[in-house]
Amino acid sequence: MGRFSGKVALITGSSKGIGRAIAVRFAQEGANVIINSRNNDEHVAETIRQVEETGAKVHFIKSDISKVEVVYAMVKESVEVFGKLDILVNNAGVEINAPFWEVTEKDYDTVMNINLKGMFFLTQAFVRYMMENNVVGVIVNNSSVHEELPFPNFTAYCASKGAMQMVMRNLAVELGPLNIRINNVAPGAIKTPINADLLSKPELLGTLQNNISLRRLGEPEDVAGVVAFLASDDAKYVTGSTYYVDGGLTFHYTEQ
Ligand code: NAP
Repeated sequence: MGRFSGKVALITGSSKGIGRAIAVRFAQEGANVIINSRNNDEHVAETIRQVEETGAKVHFIKSDISKVEVVYAMVKESVEVFGKLDILVNNAGVEINAPFWEVTEKDYDTVMNINLKGMFFLTQAFVRYMMENNVVGVIVNNSSVHEELPFPNFTAYCASKGAMQMVMRNLAVELGPLNIRINNVAPGAIKTPINADLLSKPELLGTLQNNISLRRLGEPEDVAGVVAFLASDDAKYVTGSTYYVDGGLTFHYTEQ
């Protein structure tokens, strides 16, 4: 019996990277999972394969979470397929590299609409589902160390993640009386396709690793373990918190 035996979890942006690791981890612990991404590609097929290998059931929703009617439809479809929904992981996110003075309206909207608006209204849809059906669930958001830490050339990304921190804190207060918990994980530098550019540049990588106390980048599974903890009853008295999964990156300091 795993911690998520009999549970159903929806994980956005789970065709690869951290989202995939979360889907597989939940499946290993007994959950049936709904995975999601904008594209139905070879990454989706691989995630489905890894989830099914655990014996869990998986359903894929091809959708862009940045649209309100779409995220409401995602909750409806999840409940239609598995009969209920217990866990929401707002994981999907994008970043666009540009100096502040060159950020376009289109790039700003892309980042804010996926990272912030998507999680905001999907969470609203999930909360309404729970209230209407008198059931209790749990929410975990994948924000970033950049909900706290500056990241030059990624100002829209930081704005979206900083806002996720306050949405999470606010909802912990509003949803607490309903026994609905919500927390963030804040990953540091994790080995995923989002960091493909960094991973291909040994010099940059070396400098970064020297600023991480544990002297390595994180694996997607390192984040998935903490997400699973927060979604489980092991964390039943945890709400309104951000858990850093950064190998010590955020508060790393040395005297040279
Ligand atoms: P990734 O490898 O690029 O994966 C992103 C996933 O999200 C993909 O499955 C992508 O598939 C999906 N996605 C993107 N936009 C979407 C949308 N509008 N609707 C639905 N799905 C969408 O990224 P990752 O590194 O795993 O990052 C996952 C989360 O962790 C993000 O929120 C990111 O900000 C956060 N994070 C990552 C790191 C890191 O170092 N990797 C550090 C801190 C925080 P499609 O492109 O097919 O839609």
